[in-house]
Amino acid sequence: MCGLFAISNSETAARSTFLGLFALQHRGQESAGITVVTADGKLVTHKDRGLVADVFKSEILSQLQGKAAIGHVRYSTAGGNSDANVQPLTARIGGRPVAIAHNGNIVNADNLRETLEDAGTILHGTADTEIALHLMARSRHADFGDRFIDAMEHVKGAFTGLVLTDTHIYGYVDRMGYRPLVLGKATGGWVLASESCALDLVGSEFVRDVKPGELVVIDLTTQAIKSVFPHDAGRTQRARCVFEHIYFGRPDSRMWGQSSLVKRSELGAALAQEAPVAADLVMAIPDSGVPIAMGYAEASGIPYKMGLIRNHYVGRTFIEPAQVVRNFRVRLKLNPVREIVSGKRLIVVDDSIVRGTTSKRIIEILRDAGALEVHVRVGSPEVRFPCFYGIDTPKRRELLAQTMTLSEMREFLGADSLAFLSEQTMVKVMSNGLESESAAQPQWCTACFSGKYGDEYAQAAANKQS
Ligand code: 5GP
Ligand code: SF4
Ligand code: MG
Repeated sequence: MCGLFAISNSETAARSTFLGLFALQHRGQESAGITVVTADGKLVTHKDRGLVADVFKSEILSQLQGKAAIGHVRYSTAGGNSDANVQPLTARIGGRPVAIAHNGNIVNADNLRETLEDAGTILHGTADTEIALHLMARSRHADFGDRFIDAMEHVKGAFTGLVLTDTHIYGYVDRMGYRPLVLGKATGGWVLASESCALDLVGSEFVRDVKPGELVVIDLTTQAIKSVFPHDAGRTQRARCVFEHIYFGRPDSRMWGQSSLVKRSELGAALAQEAPVAADLVMAIPDSGVPIAMGYAEASGIPYKMGLIRNHYVGRTFIEPAQVVRNFRVRLKLNPVREIVSGKRLIVVDDSIVRGTTSKRIIEILRDAGALEVHVRVGSPEVRFPCFYGIDTPKRRELLAQTMTLSEMREFLGADSLAFLSEQTMVKVMSNGLESESAAQPQWCTACFSGKYGDEYAQAAANKQS
């Protein structure tokens, strides 16, 4: 869970990066950082823990002078919340300055760390990004693009990254394509961003998605752009994270050629077909469940109503580490509208059930407000397995669907009925309209539902967790 942004040839590189990161704040609230290249080829970085708007005051942005920049917002998955892990990371390699920021999770990080340390490398933090930097430093190539490709040859798992040098910006998506990255055109230069909503805010035009396994190279002098597919030219199997569309990304973003909002309402429509039920109204667990609920309502012909109102000054419930705090947070965040729900049979739609905390509390709240029946419909399949690709899902035993059957879950949640979208239907809806190299090969990661991981390292880690 991280957000990336880069811009070239801009008189307001740092300010535009600030705005880009602001648009990507939902991807990480723990830290923010920007690195610029100055006119004399130095890299200057400012980064800290906290929200984008708190880390970057106007005076600080004024000190970040340069025409190209990369930026990062972080929610720690690997490496914990320590200062050493705040990105971008900078170093000197082969006598030149380099900065790197990434989104995702290297699944063979432990192996790589051991290899590096055996060879005498001193690692400061525990984050994957530092490993990538050291792998680049060890490469024998002179060109930084080649160094980066060399590093990526050793990396398994999810790695969407940005590299900034005194002469180039590089944007990269790993071969499996877990995390998104889009390319935009700005006046005279280029933009790279995790999601297209960041392009809109800086007034740049969407060009295309960076493809799985692609390295985009931007020359900061000429603004020429080059695209290379350094490895595995024959690979057509991908593992785009379905949750980027279902939950994680902003609904106004385009990823992988498709609008997240449209995808979510299509999932809702499919859910209405797969799991219909007689009711008076369809409502969502806001905000993430809203587009799915609206799709459900439209397809079923049952009216959509706002039965819960969200307090927007509370952060995402998931971000709180302790269970006790999480429980209370649901109450802080969502309040029912008695006049809408009282005496009614409700279809309550959420995008996903992970621990079950949110839906259990919501059902209690709705019953207290006079709901007659509560039918829970979920826009994704049962989450049974942990994610090792950069989304902070909990340990296996904390996942509701791992420990309970469907009817046990229904009872635990206190719902009158409960249904999840099937994996098959979800994949079908997600693939609808996807530009892919081979429709015959899997294009989506579904590991957290199926337990089938895209690589042996994640598979082994999952098998170890019981
Ligand atoms: P639960 O309360 O069941 O543990 O979590 C499900 C709720 O958390 C959903 O409403 C979903 O929108 C939200 N959520 C927050 N972060 C995540 C995440 O990383 N993955 C998923 N699948 N849902 C999340
Ligand atoms: Fe996304 Fe689930 Fe795959 Fe993780 S395991 S990348 S959350 S689909
Ligand atoms: Mg939610």
